[in-house]
Amino acid sequence: MLEPRIVVELRNIVGTDGVIDKHEQLRTYESDGLTNFRIVPALVVLPTSTEQVQAVVRVCHRGALPIAGGIVISLACMRQILKVDLPNQRVVVQPGVINLWITQRIVPHGYYYAPDPSSQQVCSIGGNVAENSGGPHCLKYGFTVNHVLGMKFVMPDGEVMEVGGPTFDSPGYDLPGIIVGSEGTLGIATEVTLRILRKPEAVQTAMASFDTTDAAGEAVSGIIAAGIVPAAVEMMDKLAIEACEAAVHAGYPLDVGAVLLVELDGPRTEVSQLLQRVEEICRRAGAIEFRLAHTDEERTLMWKGRKAAFAAMGRVSPNYIVQDGVIPRTALPQILREIEELSRRAGLRVANVFHAGDGNLHPLVLYDQRIAGQEHEAEELSGEIIRRCVAHGGSITGEHGVGMEKKQHMLAMFTEADLATHQLIRCAINPDNLCNPDKVYPTPRLCGEVPGPYQPHPIELAGLAERF
Ligand SMILES: Cc1cc2nc3c(=O)[nH]c(=O)nc-3n(C[C@H](O)[C@H](O)[C@H](O)COP(=O)(O)OP(=O)(O)OC[C@H]3O[C@@H](n4cnc5c(N)ncnc54)[C@H](O)[C@@H]3O)c2cc1C
Repeated sequence: MLEPRIVVELRNIVGTDGVIDKHEQLRTYESDGLTNFRIVPALVVLPTSTEQVQAVVRVCHRGALPIAGGIVISLACMRQILKVDLPNQRVVVQPGVINLWITQRIVPHGYYYAPDPSSQQVCSIGGNVAENSGGPHCLKYGFTVNHVLGMKFVMPDGEVMEVGGPTFDSPGYDLPGIIVGSEGTLGIATEVTLRILRKPEAVQTAMASFDTTDAAGEAVSGIIAAGIVPAAVEMMDKLAIEACEAAVHAGYPLDVGAVLLVELDGPRTEVSQLLQRVEEICRRAGAIEFRLAHTDEERTLMWKGRKAAFAAMGRVSPNYIVQDGVIPRTALPQILREIEELSRRAGLRVANVFHAGDGNLHPLVLYDQRIAGQEHEAEELSGEIIRRCVAHGGSITGEHGVGMEKKQHMLAMFTEADLATHQLIRCAINPDNLCNPDKVYPTPRLCGEVPGPYQPHPIELAGLAERF
C-alpha cells in the first residue's frame, strides 16, 4: 500500500490535479500501444517543469516506495517548445512535445526536424530520446541520437545534470550518446536541445511496383550500390499493400508483389539527375511501374499509405504483432524468403513493411486472439523471426526498443561480458535500479538480484539471513 503521506507530499509539489490515484483513472496508464503487457501503476504524477520532476524524483528516491507497483512520472504536461534558434539551427523543447509539432512550428521559416517515426503525430520527444527513434528519413539523416545536442536530465537521486551542449561534440564522454536509447533506465530528460535542418531545395517521391519482393530488394541494393543515398527507401509487400489501400486509398497497385517508395532530396539539378538513375535501376530490376508524385498532395498521399501501414492491419486481421528487427541489407531477399516459409509453416499470415534502405524490417504477424492458442503461436513466430535476424548478423530491434517484450532476446545478441559492461553504466547512474526497473536487461546483474524496487526475501523477513 502506498503511504498516504507520499500522496500529500507529491500533491504539494505538483498540485492536487497533478496526482492521479483513483483506480479507474490509473487504468488509462496500464499499458502503451503494446496491450499484452499491462500493469496498473500505484500512482501517476504529472509535473510541468524540471524543478517539479526533480522534487518528485527526490520523494521517490528517499526510499518512499514501500509499494508493489511503481509511480509513473508522466511528462504529458511538459509540452512547450521553449526556444527556437533559427540562425544556430536548434530548438529547445520539453519532453512531452510531440515530434511533428517541431516541424510544424519551424516549417514556415524553411526548417524541419528530420527524425520522423511513423508515430510522429503522437509520439513525444522524450520517448524518441529514450528509444533513439528512427523513421523513413533516418537512412540519410541519422536517428534521434544524431540530432540531440544536449539535455537537462534528472538523475535517479534527484540531481539535475546538463549533458552535451548547444553545439555538437562537447568534450568528455559522450553522455547524450549513452542516454539516448537507454529506454528511461538512467533518469528523465526534462529539456532537450535538438538540431534542426534547412528544408532541401527540391524533394521528389516516386513509387515503383514489382512482381516480387526479391525484385524490389534488388532495386534497393542497386540504388545503394550506385552510391545514391535517398532520403528514404521504404518497401511494402502484397499483404501490406492490400491493407494500406483498404485503409487510406493511397493509390498503390493491388496486383503486384511489392511496392517501393523512394524519396530523393537536395539541390534541384542533383535530385532530377539522381531520379533518372533511380528509375533506370528500378526498371532494370523489373519495375512494372515507376510513378512520380507531381504535387505535394500526391506526395502526401503516397506517404500516407506507408505511415498508416501498422494501423491498416486492422483491416485484414483482428490482431497483429508488430515486430522490429534489423538485417544487413544484402540479406533482405533471404530473410524475406525465410519469413514466408515460417509463416506458411505456422499457418499465420505475415505482412512486411520496412525501411528497406537500412535493412530495418517490420514483419506484422497477423492472428486472431479469439482462436485458442493462436496468440501464443503468433508470439512464437514473431520471436523466431527475430532470432533469424540475429543469425543473419542483424539486431533484435531497429527503432522500437527492447522494453519488456524483447529483453529475453538480449542474450542472443550480447555475451555475458557485453551485458556486464552495460550494467556498469546503469549501476553508475542508477545504482538502486529505480528508473524503469525490469526493462531492457534480462536479469539485473551487478546492482541487485531482483528487478524493480528491492523486495526482501522471506528468510530475511524471518531474521534468518541478511542481505549485503
Ligand atoms: C503505429 C506506430 C508506429 C511506430 N513507428 C515507429 C517508427 O517509425 N520509428 C520508431 O522509432 N518508432 C516507432 N514506433 C514506436 C514509438 O512510437 C517510438 O519508439 C516513440 O519514440 C515512443 O514515444 P512515446 O512518446 O510514445 O514514448 P512512451 O511510450 O511514452 O515512452 C517510451 C519509453 O521512453 C521512456 N521515456 C519517455 N519519456 C522519457 C524521458 N523524458 N526521459 C527518459 N525516458 C523517457 C518511457 O519510460 C518508456 O520506457 C511506432 C509506434 C507505433 C504505435
